Amino acid sequence: MKLLTQILGYPRIGEKRELKIATEAYWKGKISLEKLQETGKNLRAIAWKKQQAKGIDLIPCNDFSYYDQMLDMSCLLGNVPERFQQKTEKIDLDTLFYIARGIKSSSCGSKHNTQASEMTKWFNTNYHYIVPEFCQNTQFQTSTTKIFDEFLEAKDLGINAKPILIGPITYLSLGKAQNENFDSWSLIDSLISSYGEIIQKLSEMGAEWIQIDEPILSTDLDEKQKKWLPETYNRLSQKKGKSKLMIATYFDIIGDNREIFLNLKADALHCDAINGKEEINEIIESIDDKKYLSIGIINGRNIWKNDFSNSLEILQKAQKILGERLIISPSCSFLHSPVTLKSETKLDIEIKDWLAFTDEKITEIIALRDILSGEGKAELEANQKSIQAKKESSKIHKQAIKERVNSIQESDFNRQSSFKNRQKSQRKKLHLPLYPTTTIGSFPQTTEIRKARSDFKAGNLSQKDYEAFLEEKTRECIAFQEEIEIDMLVHGEFERNDMVEYFGEQLEGFAFTQFGWVQSYGSRCVKPPIIYGDISREKPMTVRWSQFAQTCTQLPMKGMLTGPVTILYWSFIRDDQPHSQTATQIALAIRDEVIDLEKAGLSAIQIDEPALREGLPLRRKNWGNYLKWAVNVFRLSSSGVQDETQIHTHMCYSEFNDIIESIARLDADVITIETSRSNMELLEAFKNFQYPNEIGPGVYDIHSPRIPTKEEMQDLMKKASELLSSENLWVNPDCGLKTRNWEEVKPALKAMVSAAKELR
Ligand code: GLN
Ligand code: ZN
Repeated sequence: MKLLTQILGYPRIGEKRELKIATEAYWKGKISLEKLQETGKNLRAIAWKKQQAKGIDLIPCNDFSYYDQMLDMSCLLGNVPERFQQKTEKIDLDTLFYIARGIKSSSCGSKHNTQASEMTKWFNTNYHYIVPEFCQNTQFQTSTTKIFDEFLEAKDLGINAKPILIGPITYLSLGKAQNENFDSWSLIDSLISSYGEIIQKLSEMGAEWIQIDEPILSTDLDEKQKKWLPETYNRLSQKKGKSKLMIATYFDIIGDNREIFLNLKADALHCDAINGKEEINEIIESIDDKKYLSIGIINGRNIWKNDFSNSLEILQKAQKILGERLIISPSCSFLHSPVTLKSETKLDIEIKDWLAFTDEKITEIIALRDILSGEGKAELEANQKSIQAKKESSKIHKQAIKERVNSIQESDFNRQSSFKNRQKSQRKKLHLPLYPTTTIGSFPQTTEIRKARSDFKAGNLSQKDYEAFLEEKTRECIAFQEEIEIDMLVHGEFERNDMVEYFGEQLEGFAFTQFGWVQSYGSRCVKPPIIYGDISREKPMTVRWSQFAQTCTQLPMKGMLTGPVTILYWSFIRDDQPHSQTATQIALAIRDEVIDLEKAGLSAIQIDEPALREGLPLRRKNWGNYLKWAVNVFRLSSSGVQDETQIHTHMCYSEFNDIIESIARLDADVITIETSRSNMELLEAFKNFQYPNEIGPGVYDIHSPRIPTKEEMQDLMKKASELLSSENLWVNPDCGLKTRNWEEVKPALKAMVSAAKELR
């Protein structure tokens, strides 16, 4: 029996981030558009040929993108925000980049900036998409040829590619109406028509399969979505001609959307058997006998080798029921995985044997297919050997750490006294004024600093000279804060490359790749560390710099740490134990660091948790469980100190209103939190909920080069003091300053301090 195999998307950035390099060179005017397009074409050809050589049956096209697949979808549909329409007649690549990045133009001495479209996280991943905009004037009309061109390009290589579209319901649901009175759903009819035209054209061009992604099915659906999902596919299936339509969902269970999902009019359905493991058997049993079922058995978002014996248990059962209607697949697009293990020359070979990046995962898909048809004996044996070795490896399992986790007491999660009492002790010790000012931690990472760090890493700068350089920068930074009279100082974080990598490098249980890049947004990629084993801290990680900083000033200095949840979610996570377990180990390491910082004389310690919301499950019914352990690990990391030591935390990048009660349960003495970009939208949350501890709603949007005025910052503080007790308010920017330059930071912070002084 010959089973079909497929993938849902190949990473587009290239093995060595070729697309990033070419795109940024194009933006800087260093290479031509033709050159950039040539890079794109080469990358697509490489991806296709690899899949072809390995024997994948349904090879995707239109998974490639110069920026983002949602933005590509908007352009394909002709949905370009009006403010960009006047700039160009046709929707070319430049227009696409404008929408993503905004237009900065200075003419006649005055600046006419056209604001980029909003960007936000793609479901529960660390990938960010460009948010479609909808308004009264929105019209849909097929406007780009990218998807058709890519189909033909693949055809030239002898591939009948499977074009991928983001489904209309997901597209509409993730977009934003531009004014309150406008209901995006009024567009659904014309949206379906437009999708219909695209599908019809693809079908006429001879596409055998068309994949439509509706990951919205892994979320809690509202009535409109429930009504329109069936309706949409009833209509679209009429346009498909001879093509087969596959509807794909991934990232979480389908849960109570199952009825809708199974009844969608399509030739094939794809579901995620990694995140939906608990429901996969029932889906196999209940799918109707006309449909193919694509089972996402290989994790598209992690880097671990698949455990074939687990997968085969599911696939063999599926094969019995479905026969040739079974398609073997990854759980989601490989957009979220690094490209290849091939170039990793520095990884420990034992650890490397446990891993699979995209190319290796594709090989796994083929191996599983072979094993199911009675071949692939050698592959199965080799796989079981690796899996077994990993289970038993002494690199992973450390008895002492497991014992420490088991001996955690209830009291380890609690500070010695209640917040009110701690506040008294801290006030006595710190003598801060009303509306104290502070910053979030980092100060501008100048080219000089980045150069010193890379020189040091390359061995061109000695440890001694590097440290002397960092001391000088730290001293200057502290002197500046003293000069402008900030109340609670920071050391500037000049010694840090990245807020997770810096800690990962010093903790046991982490490994690092050379090229394990994953696209975060546009040309930006991240290289998450790999958490492979039990985590411990062998020695203090930040004390040297925080202690030095404290000796440079009489004023209170904050020690700076990254919290356990953020370290967890900005890494590739081990899959052999629950997230909560791994996070607990990290929390214990951070707890030791917090206590060491206190001993070293730091009277305030900040534990950043910008990723707290990131781990939030897509389904609301699972929120409670997650929030419970996430709050607990933060408390475990922060509760080992005396009452008079002030624990700060910081959060950014997302909306917090719906989890504000959990944030309060962190029981940090002070939280500094992002709000200014949304014009203090966060404050809405405090209308119904009285936030108990001290709080600094960010008044300076550091994501913009604009320098805020004293008056606007005061306005924001006044708004805040209507809902929060002014005794508990801090004045601060909304995130770290590392991406800004000193010319922007200096006047902005000066204005911020004078705003606070006047308020007092
Ligand atoms: N302390 C970090 C900084 O200031 C926090 C960064 C963040 O929130 N992402 O850069
Ligand atoms: Zn931040």
